[in-house]
Amino acid sequence: MKIMKILILIKKILHGIKNEKIMEERYGLKAFLPIAKNYSFSHYDDFGNSRSYGFKRVHLGNDLMGSIGTPIIAVESGIVEHLGWNQYGGWRIGIRSFDGKRYYYYAHLRKNHPYAEGIEEGMTVKAGDVIGYLGMTGYSTKENVNNINVPHLHFGMQLIFDESQVDSPNEIWIDVYQIIEFLKQNRSEVYQSNNETKDYSRKYDFMEEGFEGRSLKSLFLGIFRTVP
Ligand SMILES: [Zn+2]
Repeated sequence: MKIMKILILIKKILHGIKNEKIMEERYGLKAFLPIAKNYSFSHYDDFGNSRSYGFKRVHLGNDLMGSIGTPIIAVESGIVEHLGWNQYGGWRIGIRSFDGKRYYYYAHLRKNHPYAEGIEEGMTVKAGDVIGYLGMTGYSTKENVNNINVPHLHFGMQLIFDESQVDSPNEIWIDVYQIIEFLKQNRSEVYQSNNETKDYSRKYDFMEEGFEGRSLKSLFLGIFRTVP
């Protein structure tokens, strides 16, 4: 989470017709809280708690309890590495940072409408983008099933020092509780951008140096993998 000089692009939506863009130079965080601004949530440090669905294991993330449909935000920019159903995470999305060192896992997304419009595997997303919607899917081998008791986002962060750690017993998942607390100061504001599909988009964009060329470069580095 680097604090560095960034350019903020502010898009003003005036009555949905007139667009006025104002550029502003700012210092600030480039990482965002995974819960959109103005949506409430609660959490506690539940890293390492026991979980029993499927097999006995520990909880490798932080559960953010909120309302169904809350827009979920990309914490860091990166490439969508996994998208679709996983029996543990339900509808989930996995995003790898451009340098390949961090993998973000967002799970239990909304039944029938898990992902934001246009989200596809292999695409580039920017920190602050809407990527999906909070739900309670998962704990089922059958797709699109709500088997989680309390609606929440499961947010996980994996550190990858070497590709051999991926999909192996050497995976490193960290306790993100304090990171979530820290990110509360930087939340992405959203608005309903499509009345028909009920999709949301970010209200304020920012320019990230080298962002446009990142997607292809990362594809050529061959960072794709197969499991959660
Ligand atoms: Zn969880």
